[in-house]
Amino acid sequence: MNPGAPAFADLHLHLGRTGDGRPVKVTASGAMDLSRVLETARGIKGLDLVAVVDAAAPGVRRDIDFLVDRGEMAPLAGGGYLTSGGLGFIPAVEVEVGAGSGGSAHLILYLPDRTSLEAVSRWLAVRVANPHLSTQRVRSDPAELAAVAAAEGGFAVVAHLFTPYKGLLGRPGAPSPAALAGDSYLPAVELGLSADSELADRLPELASLSFLSNSDAHSLGTVAREYMALELEELSLHELRLALDGPGGSQGRRIRANYGLDPRLGKYHRTWCQHCARTAGESPPILECPLCGNPEPVVGVLDRVMERSGSAPVRPPAGRPPYVHQVPLADLPGIGPATRRVLLEAFGTEMAVLHRAEEADLAGVVGEDRANLIARARRGELCIRPGGGGHYGRVVKNPCRPA
Ligand SMILES: [Zn+2]
Ligand SMILES: [Zn+2]
Repeated sequence: MNPGAPAFADLHLHLGRTGDGRPVKVTASGAMDLSRVLETARGIKGLDLVAVVDAAAPGVRRDIDFLVDRGEMAPLAGGGYLTSGGLGFIPAVEVEVGAGSGGSAHLILYLPDRTSLEAVSRWLAVRVANPHLSTQRVRSDPAELAAVAAAEGGFAVVAHLFTPYKGLLGRPGAPSPAALAGDSYLPAVELGLSADSELADRLPELASLSFLSNSDAHSLGTVAREYMALELEELSLHELRLALDGPGGSQGRRIRANYGLDPRLGKYHRTWCQHCARTAGESPPILECPLCGNPEPVVGVLDRVMERSGSAPVRPPAGRPPYVHQVPLADLPGIGPATRRVLLEAFGTEMAVLHRAEEADLAGVVGEDRANLIARARRGELCIRPGGGGHYGRVVKNPCRPA
């Protein structure tokens, strides 16, 4: 690591299959095996640190052993691994648990090494239906899972906190994640694609927690659609834990900035009525369909947060890092695969294109119109039709008309 430079981290990546072709996460792309995910993260996206959340599957553990045996990856004393290309790799396990009032929540357990992974896998094996697959429903509860992670030298965080079906706060009356924080539970939550820090800070109950922005990538293209710039001394689990310890981190390690989608691009931002096939455009919170009266629409993250917060003003706690919106190249209309290839060849990584390249330099490579589109995306000037009910939001061409 270069002294003073932040480490760019995406801590929620899935694998579609093992190196020998067995399925891992059934909804993830078959192109995603461990080696290719690590190569994409480093070479194409420009990340420094990743966590793969399907690492408990036996085939993935074998893939880790294989990379270590071949000298392509080495364990770090502080937990985690470093690849020969300089990428930090944290093995992790995403699980689903029941979390009060009939709902469920996804948790991610970040773990230090193969031994801890083995122990957690054994513990999970008798509590899930199929230990070969990922994100299985575990017969347990959040506190017990966090204790298991801590006993193995790791820690747990709540994943995509607000997602309607699988996020802890995706339902009315859900318990606060801060209430879970304790000896074994790190004060950190992942916001998910449909929320950003400004939205989450409407809830004072989250003020003691750090906010993770991760991609939850199920395809190579979506790796790093959300990530964090971290201040760490080393790309290890121990350092990561310090950085995520509350909004301002701990011992000088911290999140310097979150980078994520404009929350309107997320697929659960607004309420969606399954009968009318319509995303609400009315002012939030919308808890029933304004057209047909459907009392059980898929309530959007914005709507759920506004329901929970009332009209309380946003009060970010001291140390809360800035949240920078980004629109992935693949989401920009008129920037197709060929243009993306040209941009990557010229500027190295997607991160460099999205955040660092000068507009004039972009124009020299892909022309003024496309360069201007990237620049307007950076400045938050694009027109976005919000997502809802599992449908992603979209950048729409001018003129900008409300949905
Ligand atoms: Zn996931
Ligand atoms: Zn309706």
